[in-house]
Amino acid sequence: MSFLNIKTKLTLWYTFFMVVLVGGILGILVEFTDMTLLTNQKSQLVEVVEDVIEDIEEGDDFDNFDDGVYILLYNENGEYLTGSLPFNFPIQYPFKLGQVQEIKEKDRGFYIYDKKIITEGGEKIWIRGVFSDIQINQLTQTIVTGAFLILPILVILSTVIGYFITKKAFLPVKKIQETAQNITESNELSLRIGLPKGRDEITKLANTIDEMLERLDKSFQKEKQFTSDASHELRTPVTVILAESEYILKHGEDMEEARESMEIINRQAEKISGLINQLLFFSRVDRGDLKLKLENVNIVKTIEELKNDNSIEAEKRNITITYENNLKNYEYIVDKIMFIRAIQNIIQNAINYGKENGKIEIESFEKSEYFVIKVKDDGIGIAEENLQKIWDRFYQVDESRTTKSMGLGLSMVKLIVEKHEGYVEVESELGKGTVFTLYFKKL
Ligand code: ADP
Repeated sequence: MSFLNIKTKLTLWYTFFMVVLVGGILGILVEFTDMTLLTNQKSQLVEVVEDVIEDIEEGDDFDNFDDGVYILLYNENGEYLTGSLPFNFPIQYPFKLGQVQEIKEKDRGFYIYDKKIITEGGEKIWIRGVFSDIQINQLTQTIVTGAFLILPILVILSTVIGYFITKKAFLPVKKIQETAQNITESNELSLRIGLPKGRDEITKLANTIDEMLERLDKSFQKEKQFTSDASHELRTPVTVILAESEYILKHGEDMEEARESMEIINRQAEKISGLINQLLFFSRVDRGDLKLKLENVNIVKTIEELKNDNSIEAEKRNITITYENNLKNYEYIVDKIMFIRAIQNIIQNAINYGKENGKIEIESFEKSEYFVIKVKDDGIGIAEENLQKIWDRFYQVDESRTTKSMGLGLSMVKLIVEKHEGYVEVESELGKGTVFTLYFKKL
């Protein structure tokens, strides 16, 4: 059966059930009609005989054949006197008073009803009513013939209509299959099934597939972008290293110049190393390999230390860092290394993008199920339209600004906070400053 398509299979099943159903219903109908006709005819038989008796008693004439019932008269000894006889009827069949009897005779059936009366002259006579089942059979036959004519018409009609309904219902499936095939053949993930929004299951399925394709497409685009950005970021320091090392090889006699080149090479190699570490971090997160090493950490002490470590660099730009703690508890469960990495990044950015002689204010406090770290600077700020992009990998508002940065820091911060079941927020005004707020879940 697998060589048949679903439409044909469905139509075949449907037709099969239609034949069984219609056949069954017609069978029951014929049987029921038969039974009803027989019951009616039997009461008709009794009624006609009773009417004839009444007519005889009143001295009226009566019909020998009335409403399909034959009337026969016999004398007391059972000898046939008069009346009309149905074809093949056994004239001398024994009498039974006041009861409908069924006789089978030469493939034909008869129903008889006998009654005995005494005439005015004192004569005893039998009155027998007879009807032949040929009348009922003829009617049933008509119904059966009609049914056998109607049945195929009904089946053909329902098959044709059923096929077209199924075909229409399966149009979206065809569209889904064609789109999937086109995507496979052309490798083009931007293709969509494009069915209008609907409520039926297949349309919903198609819409869901489209949404899935949209997400896949975006994620592939991001992946491509990521690889191209990463290669780009690696190319610059490698080019510098190559140039400097060639220079040393050519003019290596002058120790002072060689030393300068070695310093440049060292800085660029550090940059590459940093980038590779960050890429490894993202690849571990993307693979789902990044497991937090959760432990009880004195958050307040850690931030205090980070503040002190960064103050030396901040002082170079005459920036002061302050820290205000409003946490009642000092210890929280975090991955210490990750936590330090996140806060360090935010403070580092505040220094990098802060203004000379400015200030950085760090604050920690609790808010419902989170402990919150806020870092506020009064630096260059971020324009409204760039505010959400800063979390993207490799995004930099001003790419030419710093040589050290690569636009990976904030996406790493976001990932770390989210790994701690928290979230990040940023508020900023261009030229005025920026506030980063990290909400870490109290685990
Ligand atoms: P980068 O390595 O460039 O600092 P990040 O991911 O840390 O990368 O930051 C992305 C961009 O967001 C930065 O290039 C910078 O333009 C902007 N940014 C980050 N922090 C601040 C801040 N405190 N003030 C102003 N701009 C900032």
